Amino acid sequence: MDSFSFVLFGATGDLAKRKIFPALYNLFLDNRLTAPFSVIGLGRRNWTDEVFQFHVKNSLNHFSRRFKEHDAMLDDFLQIFRYCALDVTNSEGYKAVHELILSREKELGILGNRVFYLSVSPEFFGIITSNIEKSGIGVSKGWKRLVIEKPFGRDITSARELNKKLGQVFEEEEIYRIDHYLGKQMVQNLEALKLANPMLQSLWDNKNISNIQITASETVGVEERAAYYEQAGAIRDMFQNHMLQMLMMVAMQSPEHINPENIRKKKSDIMKHLRPLNKKNTAFHVVRGQYGSGEINGEQVAAYIEEPGVESSSRNDTFVAARLWIDDYCWCGVPFYIRTGKRMKEKSTRVVIEFKSPIRDLYEDNKKTAVPNLLIIEISPNESVSLQLNLKNPAKYGKTEPVILQFSAPGKEAPEAYESLIFDTLRGDPTFFSHWEEVELSWNWVQPILEAFKDNTLPLHSYPAGSMGPEAAQQLLAGDGFIWW
Ligand code: NAD
Repeated sequence: MDSFSFVLFGATGDLAKRKIFPALYNLFLDNRLTAPFSVIGLGRRNWTDEVFQFHVKNSLNHFSRRFKEHDAMLDDFLQIFRYCALDVTNSEGYKAVHELILSREKELGILGNRVFYLSVSPEFFGIITSNIEKSGIGVSKGWKRLVIEKPFGRDITSARELNKKLGQVFEEEEIYRIDHYLGKQMVQNLEALKLANPMLQSLWDNKNISNIQITASETVGVEERAAYYEQAGAIRDMFQNHMLQMLMMVAMQSPEHINPENIRKKKSDIMKHLRPLNKKNTAFHVVRGQYGSGEINGEQVAAYIEEPGVESSSRNDTFVAARLWIDDYCWCGVPFYIRTGKRMKEKSTRVVIEFKSPIRDLYEDNKKTAVPNLLIIEISPNESVSLQLNLKNPAKYGKTEPVILQFSAPGKEAPEAYESLIFDTLRGDPTFFSHWEEVELSWNWVQPILEAFKDNTLPLHSYPAGSMGPEAAQQLLAGDGFIWW
């Protein structure tokens, strides 16, 4: 590991508090930050270093599973943090930031490697990178890397504009676009599951798989984020980024040599072969929904349009389901079904691979009891891999019954998504970050859906809170002879 300065824009914000400080702390406790480093927090507030360190300590107390009040490691960790007040739009202010970076580099023997982490609203991404260039803080003897949070644009045009701005200051290899789903252990395991298991690898195609389903359901509603969510909806908040990234991870072919470049190329290949939608057929392949009132876990909850900050006439999508086809030799003829929504019955992100079922035809008697073989990968909140098989049960006169073989990952001990993503940034491994090509192809594929939603050419189905989405989403599969698992 190289020594580095971690320059955090938006250090007084929510993401820094809940995810970034705890992730850095866990890496520190695990002795994974083996070279000298400095953290420089930037925000609008006029804080001193002591106030900032107190804020970091508080955030660890609330959000780090490993916080202990009088730990010597904690004090050592907090001493690394410095603060500088900065209005990111004021280029003059960057001089003080530059001086602070340089003085800490000198003090700690840091060799000029710098991470610029933009944990701020996307409207500032362009101005900050431009000011990084103007002020010279991006110029040193070491490497520089830019970490950028979602959303990356709100459609294909704005994403391209943003990328162009970033590209004026940073090379593609220097840009780490976070999609925190790619940091989840089980999403990273999708790669290993295929690569390290020849048995599964040999079954991973259209000869053996009948369909693949990816679900990300939440029980929460829009919470306090109505202003953002009204502009985004499920299609921008979840579908264009997290859901399509999971699709790429499930469907990509194994590269001959494992390295970030090859993996990202294989992921882009999937997007290139995704059958495009057009205005006419969008309604046939996509279901749009919005939650009504209902009951979740015994509690009555309001409809989306009754939520604070949401217009009663809002036609925003809180649920999207879609059928996708990958027209390559491996997946031709296999439908991929994706659904995501808020205020659904359960909180779960999972991938289900349904295998073809010749057994149903072979054993007439077993038609009712034999189920398809399923490989189920639970991504969150539980992390597990299960395989559903059919076995004869002697106690039931030899009728076949489904049995489930399951491996559950040791939940709390595993590093959180932000831990592994920040660590990968520091060691310069971009495998689990979104490459621009993937982002551009995703926006491109989603664009007709955005337009159909905008033009209201797609029905907006209501679904009761606490359900698994609108009936139309069930029909999407029923028409193909499948059910959601
Ligand atoms: P936030 O509003 O809580 O924090 C924003 C930060 O930006 C604050 O520190 C604020 O001081 C700073 N800021 C605003 N205007 C500024 C200015 N002119 N000059 C200097 N600093 C300024 O936002 P957040 O929730 O922490 O989100 C940060 C980024 O992370 C956003 O891009 C968001 O989309 C993304 N994100 C957040 C979450 C989350 O869980 N909070 C999840 C995924 C992505």
